[in-house]
Amino acid sequence: MSTAEQPRHRLYLAARLAAGAACELSREQAGYLLTVLRLKQGGQVLVFNGVDGEWLAELAVAGRKAASLVPVRRIRDQTARPDLHYLFAPLKHARLDYMAQKAVEMGAGVIQPVLTRRTQVSRLKHERLLANAIEAAEQCGILSLPEIRPEAALEQALAALEPDRLLVFCDEALAPESPAAALAAAPRGPLAVLIGPEGGFDEAERGLVLARPRTLRLSLGPRILRADTAAVAALALVQAALGDWAGRPG
Ligand code: SAH
Repeated sequence: MSTAEQPRHRLYLAARLAAGAACELSREQAGYLLTVLRLKQGGQVLVFNGVDGEWLAELAVAGRKAASLVPVRRIRDQTARPDLHYLFAPLKHARLDYMAQKAVEMGAGVIQPVLTRRTQVSRLKHERLLANAIEAAEQCGILSLPEIRPEAALEQALAALEPDRLLVFCDEALAPESPAAALAAAPRGPLAVLIGPEGGFDEAERGLVLARPRTLRLSLGPRILRADTAAVAALALVQAALGDWAGRPG
């Protein structure tokens, strides 16, 4: 089948995928395929589960809101989860949803919410972050979901980073300078990006981050960006200079 003929819709399934092994759909998933996409018996979608690659699957309808998908043929082999860690102070509601989705689209493989002194949200709904990650993964064509870690205090999140991982610390207090030049001069190796809360970092936190070896303090230019904008800008810069936009494996 040529790419042009492949179905456009992709669905994440939690079940293992194997040829002929029907995967029961939840009521919501079945409703989406039957009512929103108006797929009929035998209609095709792409499915993935983060382990078994991507499959062409056919719909088996069992009722108005009941259906299963039967994997027919593997289209793509499983790829590894990208190695980019994304550390961020969680935001509220819709902007948190946005941040989780955009981080996945931009290639984050580990999502680490970090609690700082000025973080406005202290308890996160893992399910909601996961739902956003799934939506983004379905949309952007990747085959693995990111690892979503439980929220951690800044100090713990820093301690959990391997010593050789370069931490790109987006610091609104740094005088504007070219982020592209700073990243071009950075050492190569595994990567992490840290974005602060709406209220920014306090001095003690700044000291803590900067005390970590292999930390690159980065300016995102002459304007203070909202945290969700900063996240996308920083991930784009890092991917372009050092990551998979620059042809390095993710
Ligand atoms: N309230 C703070 C701004 C916080 S912006 C103030 O007015 O100073 C939220 C986060 O986005 C920051 O902690 C930082 O990680 C990132 N950020 C926003 N603009 C930035 C910039 N120009 N340079 C570097 N980081 C920036």
